[in-house]
Amino acid sequence: MVKIIDGRKIAKEISESLKVKVEDFIKKNKLTPKLAVIIVGEEPASLFYVKMIARSCEKVSIDFEKHNLPGKTSEKELLELIDNLNEDKKVSGIIVQVPLPEQINQERIQEAVNPYKDVDCFNPINMGKLALGKPEFLPCTPYAVYELIRRENIIVEGKHTVIVGRSNIVGKPMTLILLQKEQYANATLTVCHSRTNDLSHYTRQADILIAAVGKPEIIKRDMIKEGAVIIDVGTNEVEGKLVGDVAYEEVLDKASVITPVPGGVGPITNVMLMQNTLKAAEKLVN
Ligand code: NDP
Repeated sequence: MVKIIDGRKIAKEISESLKVKVEDFIKKNKLTPKLAVIIVGEEPASLFYVKMIARSCEKVSIDFEKHNLPGKTSEKELLELIDNLNEDKKVSGIIVQVPLPEQINQERIQEAVNPYKDVDCFNPINMGKLALGKPEFLPCTPYAVYELIRRENIIVEGKHTVIVGRSNIVGKPMTLILLQKEQYANATLTVCHSRTNDLSHYTRQADILIAAVGKPEIIKRDMIKEGAVIIDVGTNEVEGKLVGDVAYEEVLDKASVITPVPGGVGPITNVMLMQNTLKAAEKLVN
């Protein structure tokens, strides 16, 4: 029978143990970890996401500071704010919410965030460290997948893992994380993307299939192997409902393990951001 992974339960467990660690940190260092989030403009999806981050911070006793700048903010103004937050000893982690308005160069902004406060792991220095197998932080979404692999004791080593998607936020760092010489990694990998010919040829060979495409139910029943572990990162809105990249109902009796959408990877992602913020705070005091 298929095992359905309860991402909300995992997120709650991590969050509860993290709260204890944060409170220990506060007692020991007389300093509360703080996450500063910058949002430029009023994009509803970004505003909603930032609200969720604020809630996650509250749950684990991390301070939250929001900087909501007008949509017409210049790159120079944004860089000045980032400089101030980089220097502010009370700020442990910084997030600049994307997308940014067109007058602002996203790469320059991501490079400006102090790598030790870069809890989203967008700074190229941190991506480089991850590629070298010496990560400072793990990017939150692939970190959430890695965490659930560990917690559910999913053995990756010796198996064939296929990742569909190669974005800088999910697919690529997922590949780098699973390539690490670590327990629950050491993966043998195939990475597919929009230029892959005959996607199903690869997905059918996957012992572990990670879908991070952003196309509703693109992975069908005949595209997976009997007994495969299916990790669905995709979140797509279809007629007001959230669905994943995998045709969930179709594959249920064929997969051995599956993450639902919603309630799978999503809830764990924000908690990993909290974990990174505590890690950043620890780095700053040491
Ligand atoms: P991107 O659009 O940046 O990347 C999508 C990737 O899928 C690209 O590499 C693209 O290929 C590939 N792709 C597109 N079409 C196909 C196809 N037909 N066949 C094979 N590959 C294809 O998306 P993200 O990586 O940012 O996000 C992926 C999904 O994960 C989205 O649904 C997003 O909402 C979700 N997500 C969920 C999070 C969570 O916390 N659960 C957090 C972040 C994202 P190419 O590179 O060639 O264009």
